[in-house]
Amino acid sequence: MSRKPEKTPEQDKQKRKKKTKQTITRAVTPIRLIEANVGKLAALDQLMAVYLPLCQQYVTWFSRAERVPDRYTDPVFESDLSERLHRVAIQQAAGIAKSFRTNRQAAYDAYLENLADDAAAKAEALASGKPLDMERKEPEWHEWHLPELRVPCIQANANVVVVEKSEDTTFDYWLRISTLDKGNPLRVPVKLASYHKQALGGRTLNGSTTLHKRNGVWWLTLSCDEDVPLQTATSAPCVGVDVGIANFITTSTGKQYGTFHGKLARRQKRDREKRRRKAKLRACLKKKGVENLPSTSSVTGQRLSRHVRQEINRAVNLLLEEHQDARIIYEDLSVASMRFKARSMNAYLYASNLAHIPEQLAWATAKRGRAAHTVKAAYSSQECSRCHFVDRTNRANQQTFCCGVCGYRDHADHNASVNLARRYRDAELSACQKKEQIKALLLRRHEVWKQVHRLTVVEPPVQLGLWARSETSTDVG
Ligand SMILES: [Zn+2]
Repeated sequence: MSRKPEKTPEQDKQKRKKKTKQTITRAVTPIRLIEANVGKLAALDQLMAVYLPLCQQYVTWFSRAERVPDRYTDPVFESDLSERLHRVAIQQAAGIAKSFRTNRQAAYDAYLENLADDAAAKAEALASGKPLDMERKEPEWHEWHLPELRVPCIQANANVVVVEKSEDTTFDYWLRISTLDKGNPLRVPVKLASYHKQALGGRTLNGSTTLHKRNGVWWLTLSCDEDVPLQTATSAPCVGVDVGIANFITTSTGKQYGTFHGKLARRQKRDREKRRRKAKLRACLKKKGVENLPSTSSVTGQRLSRHVRQEINRAVNLLLEEHQDARIIYEDLSVASMRFKARSMNAYLYASNLAHIPEQLAWATAKRGRAAHTVKAAYSSQECSRCHFVDRTNRANQQTFCCGVCGYRDHADHNASVNLARRYRDAELSACQKKEQIKALLLRRHEVWKQVHRLTVVEPPVQLGLWARSETSTDVG
C-alpha cells in the first residue's frame, strides 16, 4: 500500500528556492465513455457497487473522528477491493471529510460569534433602558448532516486508472481500469471531441482522472498541469479586496466591480416565487394521491446561477485588468461563513454564489501568474482603518463605517478592504489562533495609536477650554 512520500533533500532545496512559477491544474470538460460493448461498462458498475459504500464508510468515519483526516491512514474496513483501489477510496474520503469539517467548523464559529454579538446587544439594551428590536432573531445552531455520497464517483490516480495513447486513429486514448477481477483490467476506448483537444492544447496529462456516472452514463475527466511563470514583482503594491453582495468586489484603491442587486436580485426573486408555487402544487397533488409529481428542481434557477457566476468572472477579470502590477489580498472565507455574510437575504443561493468570488480570484490570478494571497478576515469589517478601534457599533449601517473614537467615516466595504490589504505579511496577526486574540491585538494597536495621536485628538478640547477661559478673562480685564 502506498505511503506518505518522504521528502528528499533535493525537494527541500527546491522549496527554499524563491518561487518563480506556479503549477496550475486544468480539468478538461467530462468526456462521455463510449459503450463499446455492454459487458465492459457493466464491470465498472460492479466496481462502483463495492467502491462507493466503502468510500462512504470512510467519509463517515473521518467526519466523526477526533483527528484531522489522514489520507495515508491504515485501512480500518474490510473490502474486496485491491489494496490500490482501497487506498484511492481512503484518499477520496479523506478529502471529502476534510472540507466538510472545515466548513462545519467555520459555520459553528460564525454562530458563536453571532451568539456573543446577541448577548452584547442585550446587555447594551438593558444598560441603556432602550427596548430591544423585536424583529431580531436569536441565533440558532442546527447540527449538520454528515456528507452522503450520491453521485457514483472515483477520483483515481495512475495506480488504478492508466490513460494510454491509442496507436490507431479511431480512438485517442485507451483507459486501463483496475477492477474487482484482479490481474484483468478493463480497457475502454476514449474519443476526444475537438473542444477537448483544444482544452488540452497539447499539454501532457497529469495522471489523475475522475470517473463518474450520471443518468446512466459514465463520464471521464482528464486533467493536465501547466507551469505559469510569476509576473508580479516582489515590490508590487498590495490591493485589498472585500467580497460582498451589494458590491461583489470593493478594492482598497476605491473601485467597485459587479453587484447582486438590481437585475440579478429581481431574477432571483422571480425564480424563488416560481419554485414556491411549484412546491405548493406538488403538495396538493400528493394529497390527492397523484403518483407522477412535477420536479422541484428549477431550470431557471440553474441558469440564474450560471449567469451570476459569469457576472462574477467578469468582475474579477476587470479587477485584474485595472490592477495589472498589483498583489491581490483577499479574505479567507468559506461557503459557511459566506452564508452568514449573506444572512440578511437568508438564501443559500446567494451564499454559494458569493463563495464563487474567492474561488474565481484564486483561479484567475493563478492562470495569469499574478500574486494573490488570503489573509485572516476576523474583525476586518469592524476595525477602523485609521485608529484600529474595533466595535460592532462602528458599522452605522450596511454601507457606512463610522468610527466611535476618531470619527473616521468611509464606505464600509472600502474600510474593510484597506484593513485586508494591510494584513498581508502582518506576522503578529497571522499568528493569532482565535478571533478573540485578533480583537485583543487590534485594540492594543488602537491604544498605541491613541498615545501617538494624543496631541491632535485629546488636546484640542483642552486648548479650546483654555481659549474660552482666556476670553472670559479678557472680558473681566
Ligand atoms: Zn477610528
